Amino acid sequence: MKIQIDNIPEEGILLWSKEAADAYPVLADMVRAGECRFEAPIHVSLRARPVREMIEAEGQLETTVRLPCRRCVESFDQPVKRRFRLYFTQEMPEFDDDEDEEGAELSADDIGLTLFKGDAIDFTDALQEQVVLALPNWALCGEDCRGLCPKCGANLNAETCGCDTEVEDDRFAVLKNLKIE
Ligand SMILES: [Zn+2]
Ligand SMILES: [Zn+2]
Repeated sequence: MKIQIDNIPEEGILLWSKEAADAYPVLADMVRAGECRFEAPIHVSLRARPVREMIEAEGQLETTVRLPCRRCVESFDQPVKRRFRLYFTQEMPEFDDDEDEEGAELSADDIGLTLFKGDAIDFTDALQEQVVLALPNWALCGEDCRGLCPKCGANLNAETCGCDTEVEDDRFAVLKNLKIE
């Protein structure tokens, strides 16, 4: 998704896109690495408008990702949705000295700005970052997923294997043999 900044009116403009994950290099890499698969295109809708010297892009993205459950390892489809508000600028804005007490140089990243060159904004990088942020850190096929049997590896959501899975904790095994004088 790209826009010529000259085409952004004062009141803002609505942009909409529906592209396969392949269109986003970072997402394509994740798929190639086998981390997940995208079962739906990346739907993006946003409003771009000038705010001071910057362009604000506010909107949301939606897709469906197929990834393995952390407990039972079965793949499942996870709907993904994220709202975002991003700022783009051609140059770093000037800050008053009193806003920067430590005298440290703030980078564009620190203040959530994306720098762009030329007369068009390409949203690709910022959007793929938002997709990555929207993915669950600890994906579970369901809150009540029972995972795999630690002994025989059976998927306990699908079967009961009959193993005695009372796990003996090694730390207590040591205590058992400890004699108090
Ligand atoms: Zn699971
Ligand atoms: Zn078992």
